[in-house]
Amino acid sequence: MLGRSLLKRCPRCGHGGLFTRWFQMAERCPGCGHVFEREEGFFLGAYVINLAIAQGLVILLAIVPLIVRLASNPDAAIYPFVVGGLVGAVVGPVLLYPWSKTIWTAFDLMLRPASAPEPTDRT
Ligand SMILES: [Zn+2]
Repeated sequence: MLGRSLLKRCPRCGHGGLFTRWFQMAERCPGCGHVFEREEGFFLGAYVINLAIAQGLVILLAIVPLIVRLASNPDAAIYPFVVGGLVGAVVGPVLLYPWSKTIWTAFDLMLRPASAPEPTDRT
């Protein structure tokens, strides 16, 4: 299930084409009809995943290299690390946005399998 989400596919059935645009996820899976937003505020978890990834990227691209560099040369320029931090904080979440939604959907389906009809199910 998580593997399917890492491929930007429906975690439930593996069908692709979930995004009409980079930031626009389909309301339902075109394959199995699963309604992705199972309740109001459902995708808050996706934003948390995206935020955690962004923080990890900032640590990896800016903070750790800056500490290592300043330890060996206290007069080193910091602008490359600021650029690295901006890439991690701004570009990373934009690029990873679709995966944050599919990964969150997979986590949710692992914890709450979609076996019974849900209030958001419409036919
Ligand atoms: Zn599906």
